[in-house]
Amino acid sequence: MKQEVISRMHQIMNKEQILTNLEDRMTYAYDGTMQTGVPGVVVFPRTTRQVAEALRLANREKIPVYPRGAGTGLSGGSVPEQGGIALVLTDMNRILEVDTGNLLAVVEPGVVTEALQQEVERVGLFYPPDPGSLKSCTIGGNIAENAGGPRALKYGVTRDYVLGLEVVTPTGEILRTGGKTVKNVTGYDLTRLMTGSEGTLGVVTRAVLRLIPRPQDVRTAMAVFATVDGAAEAVAEVSRRGILPTTLELMDDVTIRCVENYLHMGLPVDAGAILLIEVDGFRPAVDEAIITVEKVCRELGATGVEVAAGPAEREELWRARRAVSAAIVQLKPTKISEDATVPRSRVPEMVRRLKAIAQKYDLTMAIFGHAGDGNLHPNILADRRDPEEMARVELAVEELFRAAMELEGTLSGEHGIGSMKAPYLPLEVGETGMRVMRGIKAALDPNNILSPGKMLWG
Ligand SMILES: Cc1cc2nc3c(=O)[nH]c(=O)nc-3n(C[C@H](O)[C@H](O)[C@H](O)COP(=O)(O)OP(=O)(O)OC[C@H]3O[C@@H](n4cnc5c(N)ncnc54)[C@H](O)[C@@H]3O)c2cc1C
Repeated sequence: MKQEVISRMHQIMNKEQILTNLEDRMTYAYDGTMQTGVPGVVVFPRTTRQVAEALRLANREKIPVYPRGAGTGLSGGSVPEQGGIALVLTDMNRILEVDTGNLLAVVEPGVVTEALQQEVERVGLFYPPDPGSLKSCTIGGNIAENAGGPRALKYGVTRDYVLGLEVVTPTGEILRTGGKTVKNVTGYDLTRLMTGSEGTLGVVTRAVLRLIPRPQDVRTAMAVFATVDGAAEAVAEVSRRGILPTTLELMDDVTIRCVENYLHMGLPVDAGAILLIEVDGFRPAVDEAIITVEKVCRELGATGVEVAAGPAEREELWRARRAVSAAIVQLKPTKISEDATVPRSRVPEMVRRLKAIAQKYDLTMAIFGHAGDGNLHPNILADRRDPEEMARVELAVEELFRAAMELEGTLSGEHGIGSMKAPYLPLEVGETGMRVMRGIKAALDPNNILSPGKMLWG
């Protein structure tokens, strides 16, 4: 990074908001993937004005800028592959307003998702998006990735809760979209355009988020199946019976064995699959729903169904699901985490295809995820030091994407495209889709300084 640019940055922010040492910069060279890229400088703006001035400087000097929240992303979005500026938003972390009358919150982008949830639950409200990383990921990162989570089945994803945004454009202008009203059809829906744009179109500096009343009660069940097919069929049948669970999570045999090996909590290691099912809402309705869920699972061959009697038992049932990411890496050091998603009725077929792909390429694959909304997470476990195995991984990943497409699904349900899936984007959106997206990008970012190399691969 040119000394002149660093000096200019010192005119925008204080000394302690700028990191230039290599060791410090290395900390910001990673996210939750295998991608790496060391930024030339790391900055921590505290105000929208500082973000705008930093972007104006970068645009003038044509320096790449990579916005960053907590760096938990699973598609390489925040990794500064072309060097430049890592723009870390974690110091803009204030909850500015919780409005119980209008059911909304106004927050800065660096607020940690769980912190917002806890704050609004204290006043009887609910912010449903719940990515597995919620203890560390930020609202800005969630908006940029349009993050989902187990509760997306019933409550939708981040974009369903974003009413308005303040965004700094790549040329350093401040754009305000949407607002505090639930209904708003004025002009193009720029709030939706920005949500899920993965830090390629603007930097989110403030968000107005929709809240809902907190559900009165929650019931949780764990069902064990001899085969993954049985579990996948139960997923489809629960919906057919008119139940909309809050979450419907699946763990396959490989995942179960890894978790048991990691936690020693007595999971059935000979089972083909486990479903974790949660329903919430008005107490009598919830009691009835969990009875139907149990019945469906038993009819479809569940060898055991356990319903949590209270919060402690519920927490115990969730412990297994929460430990999955840590547990599966005990098998092999490299985890290639995918999130190809299919319409929910095609989950059984997708699971069969995934198992066949793992067998064809002789790879270890753990399948788990939000099966209720068709969002599976096939995780291939390999060793990046073995080039022959990594070549098979690449072929398997491509086949996995094609399987999702053939089943009318999508490349990514929630992790985004980033740099990991950029080469595959044309597969789904086609030439016209790519041209339209490139046109939008060029209109907002004529010098291609914001997150270059991400999503559109250029
Ligand atoms: C264990 C684990 C579990 C996970 N579970 C889920 C899950 O259930 N559901 C899910 O959807 N994801 C999940 N993720 C992925 C990840 O946590 C989410 O994508 C999350 O939204 C990233 O937030 P972050 O603050 O870490 O963002 P980062 O990783 O720092 O950045 C992600 C992207 O957002 C951009 N960005 C960040 N802040 C801003 C901003 N203010 N303005 C503009 N762009 C910005 C970055 O440039 C980058 O492209 C999981 C990750 C891990 C490690």
